[in-house]
Amino acid sequence: MKSSAAFLPGSTIGVMGSGQLGRMLALAARRMGYRIHTFSPEKDTPTGQVADLEISAAYGDESAVRAFARGVDVLTFEFENVPVQSVGWAAEHCVVRPSGRVLHVCQHRLREKEFLKEAGLPLPEFELVESLADLRAAVGRLGMPSVLKTAAFGYDGKGQRKLTKESDLSEVWSGFGGQSAVLEAWVPFEREISVLVARSAAGEIAAYPVCENVHANHVLDFTLVPARISGEEAHLALELAQRAAEALDLVGLLAVEMFLLSDGRVLINELAPRPHNSGHFSFDACVTSQFEQQLRAVCGLPLGATDLMRPAAMANLLGDLWAGGEPDWAAAAALPSVKIHLYGKAEARPGRKMGHLVALGRSLEEAAEQVREARRRLAQS
Ligand code: AMP
Repeated sequence: MKSSAAFLPGSTIGVMGSGQLGRMLALAARRMGYRIHTFSPEKDTPTGQVADLEISAAYGDESAVRAFARGVDVLTFEFENVPVQSVGWAAEHCVVRPSGRVLHVCQHRLREKEFLKEAGLPLPEFELVESLADLRAAVGRLGMPSVLKTAAFGYDGKGQRKLTKESDLSEVWSGFGGQSAVLEAWVPFEREISVLVARSAAGEIAAYPVCENVHANHVLDFTLVPARISGEEAHLALELAQRAAEALDLVGLLAVEMFLLSDGRVLINELAPRPHNSGHFSFDACVTSQFEQQLRAVCGLPLGATDLMRPAAMANLLGDLWAGGEPDWAAAAALPSVKIHLYGKAEARPGRKMGHLVALGRSLEEAAEQVREARRRLAQS
């Protein structure tokens, strides 16, 4: 087992998962002179394309996980659904940050909600549902509309159904195939916001400005920073994110997705103990990106400044954009304050996150206008 003093440039970072979050972590790590290894079941991945080493094996392959962990100094994640048992194997050979306990909480919706409740953090009302009878009882208590979500492995609105007075509960429940689920009260939110917060091994905390998120079909579409909310609302959101990171005893990065209500209350929707799509703006717009911050936190370095250099807007690029052929990159690049990020994915399937755009502006309105215009130009090929 290697020592857990600071891992300085030249050390090797292992990342479990191989998507765009790992790719941008790898880019930040390489810039600072670290080596990066990635582990996932896939090949020629967004992370693997820019890593020193890409291992393709199942997360449950004990000998592959142990060999991978032996080859790195510190292991982190860009994907939280790595089996906790595999994290335990890795932890026998290298430092693992965040810990398996943090992953265990965040990879299961019910555990996460119970953790938040116990920590005294505000969240929508919820009920565990394990049968049709439970579902009927939970609907009786939480009312309609409400949202039924699978307890495990859900993201981007996958495994979710909104229930309304018209819903046939027995049909909805059979669609869940007997998996445990959580029924959540409907939140008539005014805005969706998120806060990224980093916490070092020494307990130092650094939070990013609050992001305002706009979703389309349950998937993040736009992020605007700073969020158009009052100073008090921002203060509350930042405080909740900090408390969540402390309650988890996190070492690393945490994204806290929240609902802002019209009466100024803030409820926590979801936690992700890794970089987050809503934090992509930070790559171009902050002194320290969320990816460099994750690296600093897991390596035991002091955290970097999170200041926003200019108002920023981010737009996701989903595979749907390729329906009419290759997007017109030159037309978007003609807007000089727009940054194009592409993840190196060969196949542009509908709904698949292929890349994103970030625009910086003198005002938030200007940034938002520029990023919308850039995405509109891409679609005109
Ligand atoms: P999730 O996968 O839980 O983050 O949900 C995806 C999106 O569905 C959220 O970003 C919201 O736009 C919407 N949503 C989820 N839960 C609720 C809720 N309880 N009330 C209202 N909208 C919700």
